[in-house]
Amino acid sequence: MTVACRYMERPQQIRYRHFTLAPVTLLCLILTVSLSAAERPGSWTGPYRPCDRHDDVLKREPMNLGVRFSTANPALRAEFAHAMNFWASILQLDWHEEDSRACAIQVVDGDPSLFRSGQVARAQFPGLPEYQGWIAFNPGVSSSSNELFVTAVHELGHILGLPHSSNASSVMYFLALDGPVYLDSADLTALAAKHRLREVTSTNSAPQPSLQAWRRAAL
Ligand SMILES: [Zn+2]
Repeated sequence: MTVACRYMERPQQIRYRHFTLAPVTLLCLILTVSLSAAERPGSWTGPYRPCDRHDDVLKREPMNLGVRFSTANPALRAEFAHAMNFWASILQLDWHEEDSRACAIQVVDGDPSLFRSGQVARAQFPGLPEYQGWIAFNPGVSSSSNELFVTAVHELGHILGLPHSSNASSVMYFLALDGPVYLDSADLTALAAKHRLREVTSTNSAPQPSLQAWRRAAL
């Protein structure tokens, strides 16, 4: 089952990558997620500007990705840039801001109709007919800077071809407890099948630093 959501447990509530909800509604959420699986979460479109180079994310050779920031949220813009820098530390990938339709990836303020109640963000999945490299964030949901960063890394992981992980510590896990998250060896192996990893990154090396530790070190 493919589910485009990621949970984060908090003392007073359960928050997840795409939704915020009270614990009593968890059962309803599980049922909703099960019923909505047929929606193909990476398959959506909208009135957003095209990215003519969206297929650049499918390249195996070193990538140079143009990113268009179509968001009015400066915190989202900053954390999305940090997330791109994170991926550039893992993959042979360079990126630059591209404020034209020559973009490969575009972060957009999503239309409310795109989201279910409380949904935070969603990415298109490459390879689908409507794919344009779009990642939409819901302007109606407030998130901390770190939550925006981790969410952006997760959604960019989908853009780069990663599925959800079965490891609760992976940033690609769809249901994650609050706490440090990583790219695990399965994530890196899946990435290596599609892209070239940085030489310092090995699927057999010591565990990667957590995303939160990477962000703290990078800022
Ligand atoms: Zn996901």
